[in-house]
Amino acid sequence: MDKRPIGRFAPTPSGRMHLGNVFAALLSYVSVKSKGGDWILRMEDLDTLRTKEEYAELLRDDLRWLGLNWDAETEAQSRRSAVYDRYFELLQEKQLLFPCYCTRSQLHNVNAPHLSDGTYVYAGTCRNLTDAERAAKKRIPSWRVTVPDREFSFTDRVQGPYRENLSTDCGDFVVRRADGVYVYQLAVTVDDGESGVTEVVRGWDLLSSAPRQMYLQELFGFQHPDYAHIPMLMAPEGRRLSKRDQDLDMGALRSRLTPAQLIGVLANAAGLTETAAPISADELASIFDWSKIRGREIVVTELGKLY
Ligand code: GLU
Repeated sequence: MDKRPIGRFAPTPSGRMHLGNVFAALLSYVSVKSKGGDWILRMEDLDTLRTKEEYAELLRDDLRWLGLNWDAETEAQSRRSAVYDRYFELLQEKQLLFPCYCTRSQLHNVNAPHLSDGTYVYAGTCRNLTDAERAAKKRIPSWRVTVPDREFSFTDRVQGPYRENLSTDCGDFVVRRADGVYVYQLAVTVDDGESGVTEVVRGWDLLSSAPRQMYLQELFGFQHPDYAHIPMLMAPEGRRLSKRDQDLDMGALRSRLTPAQLIGVLANAAGLTETAAPISADELASIFDWSKIRGREIVVTELGKLY
């Protein structure tokens, strides 16, 4: 029997929701609801300096206003370090972890191979240090997981086929920082896995994270979810709509529009409806179709309707 579809929205409560976050929330909701599944909410608040409970509360209020009612909210990431410890220990038992003492400037050294998005490929500097070499280091290390020389591939529902060889395209990656905080890649894999998430819908900028998460899913014994990395929203003149457009955060949008008006504009931009006529999230779920959504960028042609 097929598993019950479970989708999730995993925002970082570091400010008021913006049009782009609303788009991600909306598509993950309508996708899973179109299959009669459950939609989970999870606060990704690992970065305790940037995130605040009052932002989380505003987020919940904005989602309720939009008619995006979650079936469950799972524990916020900042409260789960004991859970992440268990998975960290599992990696340790498998002898896949090593301490890394590199400084930021060593890692970004000009000689390190860089990828097109500006990230570096870890050169393996600390992978094979001897115990004596480790003992001589005067820094608290971060911890990296060793990656195999193997391709991880999947077909994204929006972006199509995607593949990455973790060894040559990424290198051994950090799972726990020197200050003891677990990184996004580990936390998201554990949380999605433990919640039984079957589909991950999020921004296109996280596409290249999927292979690392697939690798950790294998090691932790979780099934791979389906992935849909959705396009970024653009203004008609070709500019990316960003958090800097404060007149498009939920505080401003709610003062000007009804939920159905806002969803209507986003549904139309996504290519799900012919016009930007008002529509509720649940009505949109009943006509939802991933095959209509393509590409890395979509233009919000009816942007004027949001003002
Ligand atoms: N917390 C991330 C964000 O707000 C999303 C992570 C994810 O969906 O996997 O951008």
